[in-house]
Amino acid sequence: MKFALEEKIALLETLYSHLERAQGSFSFACEKGCNLCCTNRVFTTSIEARYVFEALKQEDFSLFENQQFYSPKLTHNQTLWLYSQGEEPPAEIFYELERCPLLTREGLCSVYERRPLMCRIMVSSKKCSYDSPAEPPNEVYLMGLLALQIAENVDIGGLYGNLFHLLSLWRDFYLGNLEEIPSHVLPTFYFEELPLLPAEKKLRNWVGSLYRTELNPGVTFKDLLEKLREDFKKSQSLIFLQDIFST
Ligand code: SF4
Repeated sequence: MKFALEEKIALLETLYSHLERAQGSFSFACEKGCNLCCTNRVFTTSIEARYVFEALKQEDFSLFENQQFYSPKLTHNQTLWLYSQGEEPPAEIFYELERCPLLTREGLCSVYERRPLMCRIMVSSKKCSYDSPAEPPNEVYLMGLLALQIAENVDIGGLYGNLFHLLSLWRDFYLGNLEEIPSHVLPTFYFEELPLLPAEKKLRNWVGSLYRTELNPGVTFKDLLEKLREDFKKSQSLIFLQDIFST
């Protein structure tokens, strides 16, 4: 039963468009061709990477094939969970950032319509420069964090890591060359509790309207998310690819 792939992508597309609609009521200084935030440090879930993968051609892999990419030590939700326990996550080691290999010569994103959430939430109220990073409005920033948490929950039983590691993983999978899950990607971590304060009414409403969005008649975003979770719990296997693609 190839249940998870299509359902996860439907949830992801709904999350992306819900976020885009909400961001549309703010004004940003971002414009076509500004790309200071486009680096090779893009962390995603495996299902987001799969969504980008569909937009790539075989030759596009040569853009990043032999490069080194930084891997996260923890997933987004593992970090949130640690904070919720009053603990600090281990310090990340930051390497020199390079330009994102998916930028065209003209400085445009070659997968713009399919870009991951981490790129979608990178917006700024003022023009950025090398000395002055992006500054999103607080509400937009918090909405982005919630979206990242929900996106990781959507990819239950999946993987988390650097976009470019995950793209190579999908390529190897479809070529039949994937023998094991590489150690530089992490399993996703389901963390349901959203860090929302009672006073954060707009954000609560935003999440509420996302969860109530119908993907199919009578089936809401939340229904489908819960179904994926139940299916995952029932599954005897915790092996990512087997869990997603087993028949
Ligand atoms: S995927 Fe696109 S939007 Fe994201 S960092 Fe790369 S070029 Fe920028």
